[in-house]
Parts: sequence; structure tokens; C-alpha cells
Amino acid sequence: MEKFDVIVVGGGLAGLGAAYTLARQELEVLVLEKGDYPGSKNVTGGRIYVSPVRELYPDLWAKAPLERFIAHEGVTMMAKERSVSVNYSGQELLQEPCQSYSILRAKFDRWFAKQAERKGAMLVTKSRVDDIIMEDGRVAGVWAGGDELRADVVIACDGVLSFTAEKAGLRGPGKPQDHAVGFKEVIELPAEVIENRFRLEGNEGAAHMFMGEVTRGKFGGGFLYTNKESLSLGIVVGIKDLMEGSPAVEAPQLLDEFKQRPEIAALIKGGETVEYSAHVIPEGGLKALSRLYGNGILVAGDAAGFSMNIGVTVRGMEYALASGYYAAQAVLQARENADYGASGLAVYEQLLKNSFVMKDFENFKDAPHVLENPRFFQHYPELVTNMMRDLYEMPSGPKDRIYPTMKKYMKLGELVKMFGDFRKVRKI
Ligand SMILES: Cc1cc2nc3c(=O)[nH]c(=O)nc-3n(C[C@H](O)[C@H](O)[C@H](O)COP(=O)(O)OP(=O)(O)OC[C@H]3O[C@@H](n4cnc5c(N)ncnc54)[C@H](O)[C@@H]3O)c2cc1C
Repeated sequence: MEKFDVIVVGGGLAGLGAAYTLARQELEVLVLEKGDYPGSKNVTGGRIYVSPVRELYPDLWAKAPLERFIAHEGVTMMAKERSVSVNYSGQELLQEPCQSYSILRAKFDRWFAKQAERKGAMLVTKSRVDDIIMEDGRVAGVWAGGDELRADVVIACDGVLSFTAEKAGLRGPGKPQDHAVGFKEVIELPAEVIENRFRLEGNEGAAHMFMGEVTRGKFGGGFLYTNKESLSLGIVVGIKDLMEGSPAVEAPQLLDEFKQRPEIAALIKGGETVEYSAHVIPEGGLKALSRLYGNGILVAGDAAGFSMNIGVTVRGMEYALASGYYAAQAVLQARENADYGASGLAVYEQLLKNSFVMKDFENFKDAPHVLENPRFFQHYPELVTNMMRDLYEMPSGPKDRIYPTMKKYMKLGELVKMFGDFRKVRKI
């Protein structure tokens, strides 16, 4: 039987963030990761917002294996036969320090794990936690591969379906309406092809989101990020929508259809798919967060539900890094007070409340409800793209004036519904 100061379950960004921060303070930390190496089981779309977490890990970013800084943003409304895109570039996106980067987790997590090990954390891969040790009403350690491993505190960072938090009674099994599923391919292309196709200079990168027909009008969307020598392309669909939709749709089929769209086919042409992955994402927002602490245990990252999709941004990685950091800070404070019970670890929730993490979740607490409106994913993409079709159409005879062309889409009934939809959008 071995005893550590802290056992971290899961070597993703939350787990490695906690381990790195604790090891920096010379605590004995053990990270148990079931994958072959950190990053091997971790799926993300591909863009990390560094600005909110830069100061939490000041010595990390200069050498981090990030792909491209995002200098060009885009969003496309896709209807069945046409699409409308808005692209955004700005001087502020070019300025150092850059806001966000494309990232490949297989590279980044592996590197981050090495930094945590250098600080003194102990990482054991191919090691699945099978159970927690409960003793006198508190979590006292874990069972992994038949080994009994004890610690003052266990930090559950085992991702979206966190079995550790569930075993400790801090969350129930996930509900379909609070989760989405994502499918992603990494498609290799030479750097100069990517730079030409996306009009990128040097290490500039592009991020593009898609909504509408890409999910056949279901809650969710598509994403495309440029890496150094590959593209990350994928879709995310709400699980409840997927289960209830009729006719039934196989989500992987949506990704295949997405790739065949002419708008996408031209961008990935000649590329080779070198990675395919699928993963669940917590998207239930504030109301779906787990309890964050208990006797001898803290929950961070996706395990706690810290991931958010508000259409134009999908965020989870910086919440994982930040919650891992604050979990570590909570352990350090609990250690000073020699109290690893729920009362000693409760400071974790306060630290999160004072940070951007809980402030974001408060600010966007209505987002899941507002965005589940199917009109955003079906009606508006059709409406907007049809308007564009009529605007640009050149008939063989005389062309109608612009105002009546547009006005025919703005009947009273439509305007009333639009007003209702956008009144709700004010909440986010
Ligand atoms: C398709 C998709 C697109 C996304 N796009 C973005 C994006 O562009 N930007 C963004 O910021 N976020 C995005 N997210 C969300 C983001 O990827 C997650 O929020 C983030 O990866 C969570 O990190 P984590 O460390 O909490 O969990 P994870 O990265 O899932 O790590 C959990 C770790 O725990 C390990 N583990 C699980 N169970 C056990 C066990 N019993 N024993 C030992 N180890 C265990 C796993 O192997 C894994 O390594 C996306 C997610 C998906 C799926």
C-alpha cells in the first residue's frame, strides 16, 4: 500500500494542470492515466484559448507545442444546397500574446505530462482506476490494477463520464440532454497547401464553425481548424436530438456528408486522414455541473461538466486547465489547515467562483436552453441562404428591386417569430 499527498485520476488537461501545479509546490502527486500515453485518449476539436489561463501557467506557453495562432475566424450557415459565410480578420488577432491556437492533443498532452514529471509529478500510464477507497465517509484513495493507492486527496479528472466522481456520489450518470457527441478527423496536407487554401501567412491559422445542414438541422455544428500540416475537421451533435430525430441519423454519416459538401471537399482535397476519433462532450452548462468537492475529493475539467458550446465558440480545454489549477490551489490551502474534509476543500468552489470559470458559466447559464431552438439550425440557414440566392440571382428578364426581394421573406408571422427567437438570445 502506497500513500501520496494527492492522486489525480486522468492525465488530460485538467489532471496534468493539477499535477503540474502541485508538483511545483513539491507535493507528492501520482497521476493515473488509462491511455498508452497522455493525449492518446483525448479528443478535442482543436482550438485552445490561452488568454484566460496564460497567467495560471506562466512558464508553460513559450515552448508549448501549439500548432498555429488563430488569425482568421469564420462562421458558415449551411442550407441543403447553398451556404453563407462570415469571415473575420482583425489586427488584434495578429498581436502577441495571441488569444488562441490550434492544438493537437496527442502532441500537447504528451509534452505537458513531461513538464509535470520534470516538476516531480509521478505519471503512470496504461493504469485504469477501477474503484475508489471509501473510509469513514471520506475518499481515502483508489484501486488501480489490483493496487491499493492512498492519498490525502483524490482529484477526479477522468473526463466527461467521470466514474470517480460518480462513485464518490458527487454526480449521477450523465443525461442525454446535457451531452453532445463529436466526431473528428485529422487530415494531413502539406503546410504550403494549407497556407494557400486558407490564405495564411507563416504561422497564421484559421478557425471555422458551421451550422445548419451539417447536422441536418439538429443541435450542434461543424468545425475546421488549421494545424501546421493538417486540418482538424469534425462535427458535434446533441445526443438527445440524435436519439429523438426521425428518420434516425448515424452521426458518423453526418461527418462523411460534411466532407462531401463542395465547400469542404475543396478544402480537404488531396489530404490523407491520419486520425479518426469520437468523444462525448458535456454541454449542459451551469445546471448540469457536478458537485465540485467532497470529503477527500475534488472534481475538475469535463468530469465536473466544465465545457461549453455557444455556437461561435466551443470551450473546454481552458476550463480544464483552470479547474485543475484551482483544484491544486484548494489542496494547498487544505494542507495548510490540515483539513482534507469537505469543509477544508470547499475553498475550491470559491476559487472557481472568483475566476473566469464560474463567471462564464453564470454568464452563459441560459445558453443551452436558448440554443436548443431548432429554428437556428434549420429555418435560419435556409432563410438566409435563400435571401442571398435571390439577391444574387440574375434572371433572363428584368431584375426586381432589392427591397421587395428581401421583403417577401419578412412577412409579419416570420417577423413575430424572429422577434421571439432573438428576444431569448438576449439572455446569452
Ligand atoms: C469533438 C470535440 C470538439 C471539441 N472542441 C473543443 C475546442 O475546439 N476547444 C476547446 O477548448 N474544447 C473543445 N472540446 C472540449 C475539450 O476537448 C474538453 O473539455 C477537454 O478535453 C477536457 O479535458 P479533461 O482533462 O477534463 O478531460 P479529458 O481530456 O477527457 O481527459 C480525461 C482523461 O482521463 C482518463 N481516464 C478516464 N477514466 C479513467 C480511469 N478510470 N482511470 C485512469 N484514467 C482515466 C482518460 O484516458 C483521459 O486521458 C471539444 C470536445 C470534443 C469531444
